Amino acid sequence: MYYVKPFDPWKSPLCTCPPKYSFNPYTGCAHNCIYCYATYIPRFHRLRLKRDLFRKLKSDLRKLPPNSLISMSNSSDPYPQAEKSLEITRRCLEIMRDYDIRLLIVTKSDIVTRDIDLLSEMRCAVSITVTCISDCMASKIEPNAPKPKDRIDALKKLKDAGIPVILRLDPVIPFLTESEALKVLEACDFVDHVVTSTLKLRRDILARFERVFLELAERYRIIYTERVGKSYYYMPRELRFKLLKPIIERCEELGISYAFCREGFEFKAKSCDGSHLI
Ligand code: SF4
Repeated sequence: MYYVKPFDPWKSPLCTCPPKYSFNPYTGCAHNCIYCYATYIPRFHRLRLKRDLFRKLKSDLRKLPPNSLISMSNSSDPYPQAEKSLEITRRCLEIMRDYDIRLLIVTKSDIVTRDIDLLSEMRCAVSITVTCISDCMASKIEPNAPKPKDRIDALKKLKDAGIPVILRLDPVIPFLTESEALKVLEACDFVDHVVTSTLKLRRDILARFERVFLELAERYRIIYTERVGKSYYYMPRELRFKLLKPIIERCEELGISYAFCREGFEFKAKSCDGSHLI
């Protein structure tokens, strides 16, 4: 397999994802989120094209078992600004729709709505990340990504088109976005599923926070005490649960299924990532 690979959740012992494949139409991501977990990839914030992508994608798809679940993308965004003119992801969708697969799109961009015509013909669901409601906060933590309102409008447009939609309300960032998380959920009370989680830290992620929110990094050094896997630091379980509890309670009131990403908390939904909707 060239570009469609079994999903490797950063070797996290807390990952609850169903078996799935991962496919990234682009290498790197120019959204520049300060909390990005994928920056172990060299020169990550420089968007690059993949060599011979379409031919190799077809070759990979031919080898997949029927009904395979593909997540696009886990280590980049399939809808960077450049996609508007390049249409690489769109071409990949045109190829994928001819195969017996289930597709989970994971993005932070409203450009995905351009492809509703193709998505409507496929077995798919779309997951859009919204971490905060204010443009000011978004410009600091996700400087090059579309505005939160545009992402929320995209979720609505997809839902209205009959495509299952998932709100990725994560990461919830202590002292920064915890007060905004519920506002995001209120604005997205029509979604089919919510995935939430708290911020995990690695050394490079902490260094990026330090550059933008100097005083926060000091507080993080105090509360991020637990090491999980090789390189991630977590807050203690009680603290993480306290951050997510208002979201859990509101999802229950609204009757929206919810789950967590790499938290180790139990949930009732049929999948964490929302793939049960496909
Ligand atoms: S959109 Fe995702 S992959 Fe891209 S920089 Fe942000 S967190 Fe990383």
